[in-house]
Amino acid sequence: MVSEHKTADVSFESLLRIFTVPEGPDSTLTRIEEKLSRNLNKFLREHIVAEEKPLREIEKDFSNASIPEQPEFVSEHTQHLLDSLVSHSVHTSAPSFIGHMTSALPYFLMPLSKIMIALNQNLVKIETSKAFTPLERQVLGMLHRLIYGQDDKFYSQWMHSANHSLGAFCSGGTIANITALWVARNNALRAQGNFKGVEKEGLFKAMKHYGYEGLAVLVSERGHYSLKKAADVLGIGQEGLVAVKTDNNNRICPDALHAKIVELKAQNIKPFAVIGVAGTTETGSIDPLKSIAQICQQEDCHFHVDAAWGGATLMSNNYRHLLDGVELADSVTIDAHKQLYIPMGAGMVLFKKPDAMKSIEHHAQYILRKGSKDLGSHTLEGSRSGMAMLVYAAMHIISRPGYELLIDQSIEKAKFFAGHIEQQDDFELVSEPELCLLTYRYVPSHIQTALERSSDKQRQELNDLLNELTKFIQKRQRETGKSFVSRTRLNPERWGRLNTIVFRVVLANPLTGCDILGSVLKEQREIAKQAPKLMAKIERLVDTINHSQS
Ligand SMILES: *Cc1c(COP(=O)(O)O)cnc(C)c1O
Repeated sequence: MVSEHKTADVSFESLLRIFTVPEGPDSTLTRIEEKLSRNLNKFLREHIVAEEKPLREIEKDFSNASIPEQPEFVSEHTQHLLDSLVSHSVHTSAPSFIGHMTSALPYFLMPLSKIMIALNQNLVKIETSKAFTPLERQVLGMLHRLIYGQDDKFYSQWMHSANHSLGAFCSGGTIANITALWVARNNALRAQGNFKGVEKEGLFKAMKHYGYEGLAVLVSERGHYSLKKAADVLGIGQEGLVAVKTDNNNRICPDALHAKIVELKAQNIKPFAVIGVAGTTETGSIDPLKSIAQICQQEDCHFHVDAAWGGATLMSNNYRHLLDGVELADSVTIDAHKQLYIPMGAGMVLFKKPDAMKSIEHHAQYILRKGSKDLGSHTLEGSRSGMAMLVYAAMHIISRPGYELLIDQSIEKAKFFAGHIEQQDDFELVSEPELCLLTYRYVPSHIQTALERSSDKQRQELNDLLNELTKFIQKRQRETGKSFVSRTRLNPERWGRLNTIVFRVVLANPLTGCDILGSVLKEQREIAKQAPKLMAKIERLVDTINHSQS
């Protein structure tokens, strides 16, 4: 063990040591590694403190902006990390933390990540990745086949072709969506006559050449915020992302979509892409993909499906029909770091046609030469890690039927929880689960009755108070640290589309048992009692409503 008073020194020799010699057998780091390997969950439970520390307090630990002049021993620093960082992290893999899309990870990914980090391959070009490049292309092929189901001949022809690409591996759904729309934009504004294409001449000249007044991408009002970033980055502006109205089940209305496209075209605005969402982030709803595909074909738009969260459902033969029509998409986003249980940093976009990505191809002299198999010629990102290895390993170790079990149990658990909520007379299920995501709120039945009877003005007022209550319960529950659900804002038909704050639950963690779901409701019911003033205000309004009725 390193004695307390000894300080580390700066010498080239000690620097060489950190590049080569592992820590001693009884160093803090070695002990931590042992504990981690023996029981990861126990380690996290022990080191993450449950009670929430105010962020302002935590910030004090991270307030010094100077780079240290004095080096620290690895073990000492590790202890510091445990105390100030790990302890105040979020226990995302806890079975009672059911508010996140990223949850527990299979254990085998930890040691495998270590191998990946040790190899430190750079997937941007083949010289720095070698076998990792064909591996990544195979992973893209697997996901492509999962979506589009082409035959062996197709994959042996295109998967490893230097001049083609079935998709791009990237850090997440945001980059995947940007990539898909980048391809769609460049294909819509491609070279023609004297015009050399938007990628060469830019948006301004492209618009002049094609004579458009503007460009648009259409998505339902439940579209993910990453699409706004994409619209901004691609130069069409956030207003170029046009929101289309949804039905009672938070799915895009195809008629409204078609009407909007016609309206835009009449204004000489080119709608170059339509996005169908397969698993919205807020409610897990799936758009009618077949109808959207039909409209896209008719109106000559690129059809992109944002299946960042819901795409993994295709692994289940029992539920993949929920995504019927996805195979008609020109491109599809899937996040492996959501329901494929891979660590953060694993997103993918797949293209139906192997030559679709030609429109964003980039070459350089010293790297990404023409005809090379460098993945970097078709990715927005440059240097990239070998994350695909973890997807590859999980596909083999878990296998498709294994994923099917994971997907099925999560959907069935969500159905169970929805039924359980509906049996309670003090909770209201707001959105039914299509996948493993649902929303609800705490509204005792007599308050629901009052909501039904109230005038528009009273309903608005009562709903505002209920929103405050939902917010209070969600925050207090999070701060207490035993369990966590997230919250979002919806406009349910039942209450005249009023802004309604709801609890949002994602049941992806296989470790979450049904007993935990019951206790989450119990805790929320208890927390409601901790807001007596707010509850009294609600009850007074309910009284008024009941009296104005009789
Ligand atoms: C999570 C998500 C994204 C964004 O993915 P990141 O990996 O967070 O960048 C996009 N769309 C949907 C529907 C998502 O659920």
